Amino acid sequence: MTGTKLPEGRVPLQPLFDGLRQHLKKTTVESLAVHRTPQRVRAVADTVNEAFESAVTGLKTPAPPEKPLACKKGCDHCCHLTVMTDAATVLRIADYVRETFGRAERTLLDMRMIVYEDKAEKLTQSQRSMARLPCPLLVDGACTAHPVRPLVCRSFNSYDAEACKKQIHGGGSTREIPSWNVPWLLGLALDSGVKEALVESGYADGDIELGLGLKAALDHPNSSERWLAGDRIFARAAWKARKP
Ligand code: SF4
Repeated sequence: MTGTKLPEGRVPLQPLFDGLRQHLKKTTVESLAVHRTPQRVRAVADTVNEAFESAVTGLKTPAPPEKPLACKKGCDHCCHLTVMTDAATVLRIADYVRETFGRAERTLLDMRMIVYEDKAEKLTQSQRSMARLPCPLLVDGACTAHPVRPLVCRSFNSYDAEACKKQIHGGGSTREIPSWNVPWLLGLALDSGVKEALVESGYADGDIELGLGLKAALDHPNSSERWLAGDRIFARAAWKARKP
């Protein structure tokens, strides 16, 4: 999602998150230097998601949310924000779709991706970030790729669903949504770590718009091999600079 929310106030956990970011970057670069295979790319995405979930679970006791979170299945306001992620995550989601979606489910996803692409390509990046296009993976208020969803989707949280509705659908700012800052900071750190690692490993497209990137990945049966070989399959989905 764009318009990254930054927490307010002193954040004593930041050094820990910076360390995790550096560690993830280093191990990802080293891993890809040894083996550039689809399996290794898949492992990059799985590792970062597992690291996020493990760290959030571990931090619930020392740095708990101030009150219960409002997030629950069926509440999908945040799935109308532009989702920005990395190539490894897009390829991982594409694998998940190929492996788990039935024919009808895949056909419907293909149709939603075509609608998304059609609308998105008529808009500049900044217009898209305010257009509130529903994510193509969203069905009946739920994520159809929940086990492999991007870091930004895992990070987004809120104490107040009405505030989400008002800010997201009312053209406001996600900065005004009260939330638990631990997942936010952690997600930002790990997201940066994996993107920096991919760029350092020679893959230029750091920031990828999920709605366009997933279609590009699924349009090619061997998308991971092509991406690893340097084919810029995500060129149209890449946001090199967060500018129109
Ligand atoms: S990937 Fe899933 S959680 Fe993320 S915006 Fe799309 S539907 Fe929502």
